[in-house]
Amino acid sequence: MIREGFAVIGCPRCRRMQVADLTHATKTCICGHKIDMTKTKLLAVSDSADEAGAVLRSFTAPKNSGFVSAASMYSSSPAEKTLKKK
Ligand SMILES: [Zn+2]
Repeated sequence: MIREGFAVIGCPRCRRMQVADLTHATKTCICGHKIDMTKTKLLAVSDSADEAGAVLRSFTAPKNSGFVSAASMYSSSPAEKTLKKK
């Protein structure tokens, strides 16, 4: 199955979010990890690379809300909860 367009995906190894061309089966992250496009979760899909890039920036912007950012994922880690515990 050939898909067209661009998707925002997150690398399962380094958690870096990036734009990937959906016509390719895999996307190699800059950390070296090869992401399988058919198995990874597509956070957003767009017709154009520019639009996907804009979505990616909105995901990574500190002011964004409604989406789980990398920062909030880290803050919900068990270690953080232990620190907050009285
Ligand atoms: Zn990576």
